[in-house]
Amino acid sequence: MTPVLQVANLRKSFGGITAVDGVSFEVREGEILGIIGPNGSGKSTLFNCVLGQLTPTEGEVRIDGKPTTGLRPCDLNRLGVSRTFQLLQVFPQLSVRDNLILAGQEHQGTMASRLFGAADAGLGEAASQMIEFFRLSHVAAEPAGSLSYGQQKLLDAAMAFMAGPRLVLLDEPAGGVNLTMLANLRERLQAYHAERKATFVVIEHQMEFVMALCTRVLVLAEGRVIAEGLPQDIRKNPIVIEAYLGH
Ligand code: ADP
Ligand code: MG
Repeated sequence: MTPVLQVANLRKSFGGITAVDGVSFEVREGEILGIIGPNGSGKSTLFNCVLGQLTPTEGEVRIDGKPTTGLRPCDLNRLGVSRTFQLLQVFPQLSVRDNLILAGQEHQGTMASRLFGAADAGLGEAASQMIEFFRLSHVAAEPAGSLSYGQQKLLDAAMAFMAGPRLVLLDEPAGGVNLTMLANLRERLQAYHAERKATFVVIEHQMEFVMALCTRVLVLAEGRVIAEGLPQDIRKNPIVIEAYLGH
């Protein structure tokens, strides 16, 4: 079966700095691939190249076998691909519900708003389901900025699912989230993955979170893949331990 995502020999340089240096990997349908690596190892740059925020210097990205290198984020949304950013992307003044509707509108493009009217663009039901799924019903009408940081990270992930439910790239979904919310976030992501047959790629620093959530792990250091394997094998891989402790 064709992998959902194929990244081949991807390179991205910024002037003299090569942030991503010949990275290749595949993600198969239904996987949760974790990407770990020290700060500055090129994880976010890799996502930016896959999702069209940056143009790679070299290499190719394929979604469902089709080259997508150079496509814009909105084009990728239409293929069912979306992401979260390392920093929160919620609109603090808008309600939880309106944040979700807006995220869904990006996916559908302006046509849906023309058909259904701007108010909810036919996305009210989808937003309600997402609110219930992520257990945000009690804060659905509140401005997103009034939620706890952990709840905002949940909302941020839910927004990505509104925009592209097939392949979702999550950049540090657990960053700065307290332990209770962390368990909640992990459990909800696992449930979403199981119920909706979504495929995830997750960048994360919180090692326990990665080990509990991911089916396979890729390790980056200085822009290169230094290890790839099952979480339990990655945890005790001497090259990985060295890359983390050596910095
Ligand atoms: P990570 O997400 O693994 O922490 P990044 O992809 O953010 O790493 O960064 C990898 C390297 O590329 C770092 O050295 C960083 O300073 C550099 N870098 C990232 N984005 C830019 C940019 N827009 N311009 C110049 N250098 C950048
Ligand atoms: Mg990063």
